[in-house]
Amino acid sequence: MFEISRRDLILGATGAYAAFGIDRPITFVGAAGAQQSDTQPFRKYKVGDIEVFSLIDGMRDVPLREGMVRNVGIEQVKVALRAAGFPDNQTPIRFIVMALKLRDQVVLIDSGTGGHPIYGQGNGRLFESMAAAGVDPKAIKTILISHLHGDHIYGLMNNETNAQVFPDAEIVLPAAELRWWTRPGVESIDLGPTRKGLAQRIQATVATWKNVRPFEGEPELLPGVNVVQAPGHSPGMVTHLIASGGRQFLISADVVNLSPHIQTNPEWQLAIDQDPQMAAETRKKIFDRAVADKLTISGTHWLMPNAGTFAKDGSGYAFAAEG
Ligand SMILES: [Zn+2]
Repeated sequence: MFEISRRDLILGATGAYAAFGIDRPITFVGAAGAQQSDTQPFRKYKVGDIEVFSLIDGMRDVPLREGMVRNVGIEQVKVALRAAGFPDNQTPIRFIVMALKLRDQVVLIDSGTGGHPIYGQGNGRLFESMAAAGVDPKAIKTILISHLHGDHIYGLMNNETNAQVFPDAEIVLPAAELRWWTRPGVESIDLGPTRKGLAQRIQATVATWKNVRPFEGEPELLPGVNVVQAPGHSPGMVTHLIASGGRQFLISADVVNLSPHIQTNPEWQLAIDQDPQMAAETRKKIFDRAVADKLTISGTHWLMPNAGTFAKDGSGYAFAAEG
């Protein structure tokens, strides 16, 4: 069972409801708690007989700028930030790696930033967080990759030499991602500053490694671990659905990069998404599934605790953090 400490933060300003495009107050649970718990390096959840860990790899405050949300004005974003109790000149993001303890092994879901300077100073803390959580890196036999952006795969490779950090683990990733990032001419597409050199680095590393297993579609990758396709943020991105003992936990990668502790409107089109329109459609589908199937859902870049549940609320959603 989850150990839940909940704090309700009801949005008081009428303007805030308008900002979210919904017709009545929404309840954010956990925003205040999230700020207090940012220094905690990990969270632990139980899904049947599978243990799920949220491991902090790093954090960053990204200066707010016009166009960050393509179809929403900057003032509206500021209202959302203030309503959630944050300064309105920057968006707080986290880099969180998920891990599973299955009966016979530890599984990582994505690998974090690897401390690559492009993601800011002080990141690449995955191993420290693993130690704090009692997760043994030597027990990692499988690494499931959601998509091939640097903040999800640079933890697989040494920053100077590109040598594998987990040479004995099998790396399981969506074939569509590998195809896209290795297709002719991809390195000349401008995908923003954090993706500079990414395609070349993928081609020099992951694409050549013998311990990489690409998959198509939505297979069961491990007992109780299924794939759910989620294209948009990256062309072949997938999410991972953990099911055990009648419970389900969706590790949703970058389905939404702006934490639902701040806002939950799936229509907000984020500039960070490679195909913002498709990302918004995927997001709505995933949120609706989370409501219908009562999923616990986590996100890589959400505030801690980075897992919780969605409920329909008016024409929008309410997020309740857990843990
Ligand atoms: Zn990411």
